[in-house]
Amino acid sequence: MRIGCPKEIKNHEYRVGLTPESARELAVNGHEVWIESGAGLGIGATDEEYRAARATIVDGPDPIFADCEMVVKVKEPQAVERAKLREGQLLYTYLHLAPDPEQTADLVKSGVTAIAYETVTGPDGLLPLLKPMSQVAGRMSIQAGAAALQKEHGGRGVLLGGVPGVMPGKVVVIGGGVVGFNAAQMAVGLGGQVSILDRNPEVLDKVGTFFENRASTRFSNRSNLHEAVAEADLVIGAVLIPGAAAPKLITREMLSDMKPGAVLVDVAIDQGGCFETSKATTHADPTYIVDNIVHYCVANMPGAVARTSTYALNNVTLPHALRMARDGWKEAMRRDPHLAEGLNIHAGGVTYQAVAEELGYDH
Ligand code: NAD
Repeated sequence: MRIGCPKEIKNHEYRVGLTPESARELAVNGHEVWIESGAGLGIGATDEEYRAARATIVDGPDPIFADCEMVVKVKEPQAVERAKLREGQLLYTYLHLAPDPEQTADLVKSGVTAIAYETVTGPDGLLPLLKPMSQVAGRMSIQAGAAALQKEHGGRGVLLGGVPGVMPGKVVVIGGGVVGFNAAQMAVGLGGQVSILDRNPEVLDKVGTFFENRASTRFSNRSNLHEAVAEADLVIGAVLIPGAAAPKLITREMLSDMKPGAVLVDVAIDQGGCFETSKATTHADPTYIVDNIVHYCVANMPGAVARTSTYALNNVTLPHALRMARDGWKEAMRRDPHLAEGLNIHAGGVTYQAVAEELGYDH
């Protein structure tokens, strides 16, 4: 199969669909790989590295959209890219169609077969192609929070790990899922005093068993949340109610009980945020202050660590790409119903029930 990877064109997107290593895996398995010149520069991968991995470098995206059977990307295709997609072509990328009627209509019209990373499932019912980005965001949230705690960013001037003779910072993680677990790991690693709140007893059990006495766990209810954030130097918002907007767990009123200069990092901002005072920010201007509390609410945190994020993403996307290239997407999906969950658009229709229902397509 001929597989192509164009340069990402969404604003501030530095990741790339295929690393040189992934290109090599596809090539040694007998496939032809076309990479747009410069596609890997955002992760520090040069055209030379792709050539050395047996890929063909092409100028601009057009040859890829015109002549490749499978197009591998990271972000949803932008309008100019959608205009180039064609019938029978396979598109493999993040799509997030439910809130995006315009993109959905264009993909339906193009006749492309589109597989969305975010709806491919795993044997545990979770979303394995989404998980690495939550791992990245969780780990990054502590780095971002630690920096925001510095005086020059408006923080209260606390070093998370403390030093001998001085108490460490207090970190409160709300939500003990993928983001929260990874945030807690980083915070514990830095020597912070960590507590994790969740409302799911099984999650509390899992994180409690894992961290033992290195982090404390608390059931998430109003009283415990209020008490925990009032003592915190750094609060990480990491809750998710699948398919719903994030619940506003920390109200503006509660901010007045917090320590001035404390930091809120709202990782759940992509679902609307779990703090009442959260509004989405960008890497260019990531923080703002409300009632003396520093807020960090970047909606695409993994984009800032494009290299790590790209490699983490390729680890989970490549195995499916290899199987689809070898067997064709239909046979690959027949053999793996979890991959079949990724099919969102085919033959001029919406094939993913939740998207069809949300946007009023037949399913
Ligand atoms: P997850 O499903 O693994 O974990 C969510 C956890 O929240 C679950 O354990 C759940 O029990 C808990 N929860 C739900 N309601 C709660 C409440 N009231 N109090 C305490 N805990 C509660 O989800 P995840 O992968 O960890 O993702 C968390 C959020 O981070 C999602 O909104 C996700 O989209 C977002 N995210 C953002 C970025 C970014 O760049 N900002 C990147 C990746 C993920």
